[in-house]
Amino acid sequence: MSWDVRVLTIFPEMFPGPLGESLAGKAAADGLWSLRTVNIRDFAPDRHATVDDSPFGGGPGMVMRPDVVHAALESVAGAPGPVIYLTPRGRPLDQETVRGLARGAGMTVLCGRYEGVDERVLEAHDVVEVSLGDFVLSGGEPAAIALIDACVRLLPGVMGAEESLEEESFQAGLLEYPHYTRPAEWQGRRVPEVLLSGHHENIRAWRREQAERVTRERRPDLWARAVARI
Ligand code: SAM
Repeated sequence: MSWDVRVLTIFPEMFPGPLGESLAGKAAADGLWSLRTVNIRDFAPDRHATVDDSPFGGGPGMVMRPDVVHAALESVAGAPGPVIYLTPRGRPLDQETVRGLARGAGMTVLCGRYEGVDERVLEAHDVVEVSLGDFVLSGGEPAAIALIDACVRLLPGVMGAEESLEEESFQAGLLEYPHYTRPAEWQGRRVPEVLLSGHHENIRAWRREQAERVTRERRPDLWARAVARI
């Protein structure tokens, strides 16, 4: 069964973009997932295809109109999966959310522009608000690409080595251990001896130790949660 994504945007030409290349591109060509863009402008009532208007209450910028966004959302009504609006006001995206989405049947992603979307249409469509992080992009499209990419690589059959998914960052609530490849010595820096030992148990223990150290040093928030789980 294919995992299907609808992206509502005023810049459909930005897709598939990076999603048409590499792992995601090949997976789409193999029929493991599909992407459909819906141009929000097609639902504007006037001949200038206006999708925005000035904010009630004054202030800078423009707001995407509820009637236009509603019509665009209605055009994909009944499609499987949640409707996600990408916004800095949303819940920060994490790997657990990505895993949940990848287990589902797909999703509809609404990309904002200008100051964002009229609040009423978000309420009316039970939209899930998701943020990529505490910074402001100029539009939801790059965020949509990042979200879709994170989901697609988890779909069954997309990644060759399933065990690399098991070990990567966040899987166990920790950041990943450091990686090394040939040459064993580069610019006077040697690969940690244990990795050359062939002793699998010691290698596993070293990697676990490193993952814990990196998480403790770089992400005390993740570390505190990991400790609480033990
Ligand atoms: N006025 C909004 C605010 O201060 O929260 C920012 C609007 S931003 C210029 C335009 C659009 O970019 C947003 O509607 C949203 O779709 C997208 N966007 C910006 N930053 C984002 C983020 N951190 N995560 C997800 N989407 C983001």
